Amino acid sequence: MALGVVAIIGSPNVGKSTIFNRIVGRRRAIVDDQPGVTRDRLYETASWLDREFRLIDTGGIEITNRPFQEQIRIQAQLAIDEADVIVFVADAIKGVSSDDRMVAKMLHKCKKPVILAVNKVDNQNILFNITEFYSLGLGEPVAVSGEHGIGIGDILDKIIKVLPKEEDVKYDDAITFSIIGRPNVGKSSMVNALLNKERVIVSDIVGTTRDSVDTMFERDGQRYVVIDTAGLQKRGKIYEAVDKYSALRALSAIDRSEIVLFIIDANTGILEQDKHVVGYAVEKKKAIVIVVNKWDLIKKEQNTQAEFEKKIRNEFVFLDYAPIIFTSALTKSKIDKIFDKIAEVHDAYDTHIPTSVLNDVIQDAQIMNEAPDFNGGRLKIYFVNQANSQPPTFVLFVNKPKFAHFSYLRYIENRLRDAFNLDGTPIELVLRERV
Ligand code: GDP
Ligand code: GDP
Repeated sequence: MALGVVAIIGSPNVGKSTIFNRIVGRRRAIVDDQPGVTRDRLYETASWLDREFRLIDTGGIEITNRPFQEQIRIQAQLAIDEADVIVFVADAIKGVSSDDRMVAKMLHKCKKPVILAVNKVDNQNILFNITEFYSLGLGEPVAVSGEHGIGIGDILDKIIKVLPKEEDVKYDDAITFSIIGRPNVGKSSMVNALLNKERVIVSDIVGTTRDSVDTMFERDGQRYVVIDTAGLQKRGKIYEAVDKYSALRALSAIDRSEIVLFIIDANTGILEQDKHVVGYAVEKKKAIVIVVNKWDLIKKEQNTQAEFEKKIRNEFVFLDYAPIIFTSALTKSKIDKIFDKIAEVHDAYDTHIPTSVLNDVIQDAQIMNEAPDFNGGRLKIYFVNQANSQPPTFVLFVNKPKFAHFSYLRYIENRLRDAFNLDGTPIELVLRERV
């Protein structure tokens, strides 16, 4: 589901991060047990009452080599372009600053709803100061204290009042995939190569978000929707300065797709930034295909491909379920193979395994290799069924869930992968105590 986007902006040190943490606080308690997944604290999903939204702390966007004022201006511009709702934070102790006035001027011109939060109002005495913030012309200032959690509920009430309703475009009978990767890895070229000879049914379906363009096409009787974020990335000059930012726009494309084609440039290899975006896809349990593009530029020796593959596997340990394809969007080599993989991975993602076969495999696995003694006992799996697909989710009824050691579950997962065709899809194992 594509979520509405709320951006927190304001000068440095006004308390943006503090407020951000307050708002997402209760969500962050979720333990991230995926090894290797780097959490980017730039954005988090937050919720209030029955609404969910994506919160961005623009203060976390690194814009290097720019003067101070310029940084604030760029951050504000990004928020204006990308967010549905803007929370503008000012500092009650400092009073209205010239930077506040500059940002306010930018906000006047945009048509997005703006909520003005005046922070550091830790007690009633300072409350008097906040009237001066009316002069920014952004409506009623809301007194908050990020540090003490005062007024945060008021801000959240205001956010969800103006947050647009999510109205997702749903594509039945089509395999929906997105193309994700850093700028210049060849995403646009890949979209063109994939659409080359295919029958485009509808192009430029502009979804609910401004993040992507959807194109529906047909190939060998199968319908596909490609969610493309690339074209939009080239909108403005400032995006070049904000490399990291391109990652943000990929998020809702990932949310809306079944399969993520994660493009790596063979020339430049893997960067830390790649991990953030693909980590999000893993977290969201999406099927993933790793596509190494620009393979035409690589001088090949005997083991070049195997070496490259090894490097990827080492860098993305948490992505071991994703197949890797080496292609060139330019020469269109192996484009057919991408389609084959998409179909395969989609089958896996969507698969439903009959209960009897499933139980045979799990019982055999336990006979072959008994669970280790852990937390005071040995795990015994009595019965398994598949509760869900997209991704395949298996419920294991066991003696005591706490006896389950990570490595043993890993073993069970691998047995399932060996027995059934589960390439490219994540698998979820849910443990239930049999009563
Ligand atoms: P950012 O640069 O805008 O993200 O600001 P931070 O969240 O990092 O906060 C900057 C400083 O202001 C830190 O020292 C915080 O402890 C402090 N601060 C944040 N919120 C409050 C508040 O509600 N009251 C007071 N007195 N200090 C605060
Ligand atoms: P995007 O920013 O990820 O959408 O990347 P583009 O599709 O715009 O490609 C960036 C540059 O890489 C362009 O100059 C492309 O022509 C080039 N390019 C894309 N794919 C390939 C490829 O497979 N091989 C080579 N040699 N160049 C490519």
